[in-house]
Amino acid sequence: EGKLSDTGQIVSFTAQLGNKVRQRRQLLMELRDALKNEELLLYYQPIFALGECQSLVGFEALIRWNHPSRGLLEPQDFIPAAEDGGLIGQIGDWVLEEALSALKRLHQANESVDRPYLSVNIAAAQFLQPNFAKRLYQLMRDADIECSALTLEITESVALVDTVRTAAVLGLIRQWGVRTSLDDFGTGYSSLSYLKNLPFDTLKIDKSFVQTMSDRRCRSIVRAILDIADNLELNVVAEGIETAEQCETMRLMGAQSGQGYLFGRPMSEKSALTLLKNDLLSISRHGNG
Ligand code: C2E
Ligand code: MG
Ligand code: MG
Ligand code: MG
Repeated sequence: EGKLSDTGQIVSFTAQLGNKVRQRRQLLMELRDALKNEELLLYYQPIFALGECQSLVGFEALIRWNHPSRGLLEPQDFIPAAEDGGLIGQIGDWVLEEALSALKRLHQANESVDRPYLSVNIAAAQFLQPNFAKRLYQLMRDADIECSALTLEITESVALVDTVRTAAVLGLIRQWGVRTSLDDFGTGYSSLSYLKNLPFDTLKIDKSFVQTMSDRRCRSIVRAILDIADNLELNVVAEGIETAEQCETMRLMGAQSGQGYLFGRPMSEKSALTLLKNDLLSISRHGNG
């Protein structure tokens, strides 16, 4: 009897695995169509300066998939599959192209000197492609945009696959003026020594820290991170700010910028443009006294 149920478990386990493989394959096929059928879109989440005058400084582009039957999908539902299935290059190119043209539209809506920047997430498999820098260069040239308005976000795990190569690629794109940002800081490897060898402009403190700052021990970690950032002359963005209290704590501790539901959820380009115009209005009102 025991034997029988064992076999039964193995059979159902194998069947489940087969299902998973089939589902993945199906998802990849649909994702290929999604690129052709223009089902992918970008949302934009505002990033604000945390100083006295909380002005809008930029946006982060966040991908979504308007799936024909499953509705709006989030990156966690399809980016890992795209990375494994060799589709991330194409998707990453689409993201960069779309982000650059949106950036142009945002700048056209904004005549002031302090134009917002746009921060774009780059997947590991995308960043590590041998022709990544060349593709980026082509896309930026075609988009005809100030390089300094673009920030690339990569995570620690990407940076540490090959630090020498990562440093070289980051160094190159920074020479063009593109900014670089270390995403989800604090969640990956705990060795901080590599930071000094990698040319980043910005460090994004992961929301898991920002959201547990009522805990004294967590606060001391954040304080240490901000101290390192200060010494290395890195700009800090606090992610996942949901409450006024979290915002105030991060501001007092010295984070320059913040991003989170308190300020705004990821939104359509149209809403981002409206937000930008309203922000400019409020600044000019302040300026006029
Ligand atoms: P991320 O780059 O760390 O992006 C921040 C995530 O935190 C976003 O989730 C955002 O919606 C969410 N978030 C922002 N503020 C708050 C808050 O106050 N509270 C909470 N609970 N969440 C907040 P999203 O859009 O689901 O993206 C998840 C991840 O997917 C991103 O994490 C990024 O690693 C990846 N991703 C997004 N867009 C792209 C893309 O175009 N290309 C690649 N390769 N990866 C992307
Ligand atoms: Mg999400
Ligand atoms: Mg990011
Ligand atoms: Mg992050």
